[in-house]
Amino acid sequence: MKYISSLTSPQPQSTTMKTLQQRKLTPSKRSQKRRFKGWGKLVTSGLFLQLLLMAGPSWGQEKKQEEYTYSELLNDINAGKVTQVEIDPRLQKATVTLKNQEKPEEVPLFKQNPELINRLKANDVQIDYNPSPDNSAMVRLMLQIPIILLILIIVIAIVRRSANMSGQAMSFSKSRARFQMEAKTGISFTDVAGIDEAKEELQEVVTFLKEPEKFTAIGAKIPKGVLLIGPPGTGKTLLAKAVAGEAGVPFFSISGSEFVEMFVGVGASRVRDLFKKAKENAPCLIFIDEIDAVGRQRGVGYGGGNDEREQTLNQLLTEMDGFEGNTGIIVIAATNRPDVLDKALMRPGRFDRQVMVDYPDLKGRQGILDVHARDKKIDEAVSLEAIARRTPGFTGADLSNLLNEAAIFTARRRKEAITMAEINDAIDRVVAGMEGTPLVDSKSKRLIAYHEIGHALVATVMTGHDPVEKVTLIPRGQAKGLTWFTPDEDSGLVTRNQLLARIAGLLGGRSAEEVIFGEDEVTTGAGNDIEKVTYLARQMVTRFGMSELGLLALEEDDQDNYAAFDEIATKVDTQINLIVEKCHQKAQTIIRENRAMVDRLVDILIDQETIEGDEFRQLLEEFKEPVDSAGPELCKSV
Ligand code: ADP
Ligand code: MG
Ligand code: ZN
Repeated sequence: MKYISSLTSPQPQSTTMKTLQQRKLTPSKRSQKRRFKGWGKLVTSGLFLQLLLMAGPSWGQEKKQEEYTYSELLNDINAGKVTQVEIDPRLQKATVTLKNQEKPEEVPLFKQNPELINRLKANDVQIDYNPSPDNSAMVRLMLQIPIILLILIIVIAIVRRSANMSGQAMSFSKSRARFQMEAKTGISFTDVAGIDEAKEELQEVVTFLKEPEKFTAIGAKIPKGVLLIGPPGTGKTLLAKAVAGEAGVPFFSISGSEFVEMFVGVGASRVRDLFKKAKENAPCLIFIDEIDAVGRQRGVGYGGGNDEREQTLNQLLTEMDGFEGNTGIIVIAATNRPDVLDKALMRPGRFDRQVMVDYPDLKGRQGILDVHARDKKIDEAVSLEAIARRTPGFTGADLSNLLNEAAIFTARRRKEAITMAEINDAIDRVVAGMEGTPLVDSKSKRLIAYHEIGHALVATVMTGHDPVEKVTLIPRGQAKGLTWFTPDEDSGLVTRNQLLARIAGLLGGRSAEEVIFGEDEVTTGAGNDIEKVTYLARQMVTRFGMSELGLLALEEDDQDNYAAFDEIATKVDTQINLIVEKCHQKAQTIIRENRAMVDRLVDILIDQETIEGDEFRQLLEEFKEPVDSAGPELCKSV
């Protein structure tokens, strides 16, 4: 189990990003270590040199003494054997060239050698004075180098430690490495699906990058910046890479969060670096992810504004104003918080084009599944359309994750190709988290069974509710039991009846607990249901005009007038209560009127742990009692 979870537990994107960033950092850290080892080598070699120098002279002298002596030299001069003598006064030695010997001899001398000079002159021998360069200073320096190095290393270590203590204060030295460049992204528009409008708008940008002359020739100004707006995982980064890939230009990317450093001026210098590099490589595309991290409105926010962020933002604006439209650089930025962005960013000549990248619809999801199924072995019986149907609200990232999870299940089960079974398990996991072990038979297991059957039964009896997909007692994530519904496809429009049915279905769990175990025995298990119920009911009152308050949009963002607001808030709460209470009673009635059936369904559920939707409906038919299934009459009267 543990192995599986570490392999497949879905990670929030931010964590993934962090790991990536950490990974990015490691090489530079490693190279610093390597540099350190380098210092060490230098020290050792310095010491070695020193030893050599100390040993050197004495070892040389011993050798010479054996071979040719001063008195021998004097004798040889008298005998006329010597043709030339080279005297080195500094090292106190003479190099003697003998008549019948090719290799000259070396003789150690005294400080003063009047005798020798006289004899040489007397015998007419050629004398050369040839003092060797004075190395003593060098030698002394050599001796000092290791010490200097040692001190240097200590100083560096101290500086580094203090830098670590003050956060990333020293990281400005690394600022150049903080953006990435991909010469070729290798991604094309065919890899992006489900966001056709965004693709279409960006097609134009591709043309700008490819053939700017076309536009400049007729005096059109090429836009500099495009802002992609949309929730995480919808494919903003992918889309930007696809634009670079389609245009065949390099892709520079940096994340807004990387601009935000402790040191004032670091972010600004990074922006400068980035644009400098980009200009050298134009035409190219700059992608700034999470631009809201630096592009927040200036002068607001925590601590009355943030100098660093403002400087970075100003630098960004300056850079964008600085280059002419036809330099062939296009900046694409991404955010999911356009509301917090500084207005200056949106001005013409900056990010004046905004492209929405939204959740994909049914067709879009199918397209995305098609893209990600290309490199996977999928059984012929699997219908990608059916998967798309079951996954409203999934982003492109969710869908790619889903197919990957299914592939992992398939590999673990040693199957040849992904079948619907793996897909279903993967959907369950992506939606609700990891499967746990079922509870042992106990009172609490029975209570959970009643709760889930309550949901399933009320939802099935109420007209307008999505059909039950399955009821299960196998825990997942936080939930001890689950009732799944097959969502109706994103028609977008929901009727009042459907909303009431949904509320009653959500209350079915708690209602079953109440009817069977009594008001005092109800559990916290319905917490999540009640939250959803309240949200739905509030929406009905304040947004959809579906209460006695009439057709009023009572959005609560507008809190300027507190007195009026308070009065309205009370009315809204009363209406919410009315709706919820009516639906609650309807749910209780359904449970009471079908008590025998509920008991039998619970027994089956405890026995099987899971009842599929079709089976559930079949059982309902079998156990049918005379039911008042006139629909949500009670709720309708709200
Ligand atoms: P965002 O930048 O909007 O948060 P990403 O572009 O990083 O999302 O998407 C993450 C991954 O999810 C992509 O690498 C891709 O595999 C998949 N994905 C997301 N959206 C799409 C899409 N529209 N079409 C195909 N794959 C997508
Ligand atoms: Mg992204
Ligand atoms: Zn519930």
